Amino acid sequence: MINTIFHAKTHCTSSEARETGTMSGSSPTAEIPGHAFGPWSFLKVAGANLGFCAIGVARAGEISQRARDVFGRWLGSGHHAGLAYMEKWSDARADTTHHGIVDASTAVVCAALPYSRGAVETGIWKSVAAHARSRDYHQVMRDRLDGIVRAIHSRFPGAISRVFVDTAPVMERSWAMAAGLGGLGNNGALIVPRVGSRVVLGEIVCSDVPKPEYTDVPSVRGPCLECGACVDACPTGALAPSGMVDCNRCVSYHTIENTRAPIPSDVSSAMTLIFGCDLCIDACPLNRAADRCELDPPPDRGPGSMTLQDVSEAPDEILIRMFRGTCMERTPVETIRRNARLLVGRN
Ligand code: SF4
Ligand code: SF4
Repeated sequence: MINTIFHAKTHCTSSEARETGTMSGSSPTAEIPGHAFGPWSFLKVAGANLGFCAIGVARAGEISQRARDVFGRWLGSGHHAGLAYMEKWSDARADTTHHGIVDASTAVVCAALPYSRGAVETGIWKSVAAHARSRDYHQVMRDRLDGIVRAIHSRFPGAISRVFVDTAPVMERSWAMAAGLGGLGNNGALIVPRVGSRVVLGEIVCSDVPKPEYTDVPSVRGPCLECGACVDACPTGALAPSGMVDCNRCVSYHTIENTRAPIPSDVSSAMTLIFGCDLCIDACPLNRAADRCELDPPPDRGPGSMTLQDVSEAPDEILIRMFRGTCMERTPVETIRRNARLLVGRN
């Protein structure tokens, strides 16, 4: 998932991290962040070779009570807005050994792939969030994780593995922290040390493999500087100082996930993109040095010279072709057109 609660991937409740106390503390010999000790140490080399910027493994089972409590408070506050699926599968979400995930799982491998702001974009691609300009990150992540699965099966013959990239109710940021990948920031996103929060996350839940052992003491603090730049940059007040993200107020949620209800006018007036919102991510000083992108270019991005006006009036087939192969394909074209119309109407 992109590192959030709705654009897959980039936000969550940062208090989830602080309260779970499962933040990183990488091995002195680790080249990339993450817990991978003993029989799991092969993950570091395999992960680095596949382009991951962090990889680790956590003991499977129940997520901590504190993480569940924080998630419950986020849901109870209605911050999930129209993401009704967040209310379902609470048993599976809480425990990876649930039959909906992997029966008798013993290990959860978590990995992060970096993406960058990218080259200066032209045409309509300037109006698309950075993570969505590439080949669909779900597919890229799945392809790379398949390489890790092969390494796991080579090391542990008889292992049973299931790859998840937004495909099951796995609390990915909590597992990523338990696996030592990083800590959550006040922007609600997982921050990988020396990389930042422009990362997408994926998981492999395994059974018939050794339970990982930790040899270091997890820190309760992540790499977040607590400078508040992300909260200040949010134009709608969607980010609480505690790091809780209120989807009802979040431009990213509304432009990607809200395909039916009208966007509140004070939120639509803060839109800058037809898909997503990079403001809090761009504001973070920890992301300024990041320039590495492991997301492949999409196979054919179509006529990128289109303007917002063109997109607001384009027929379905043009928009489908334009966004084919990117994660924008997962959002109805009518929603993309609506977003473009809202931006055009403001100008
Ligand atoms: S800056 Fe944008 S993406 Fe970040 S929380 Fe605010 S509205 Fe959402
Ligand atoms: S902008 Fe500052 S407070 Fe926000 S996540 Fe980045 S370092 Fe933390």
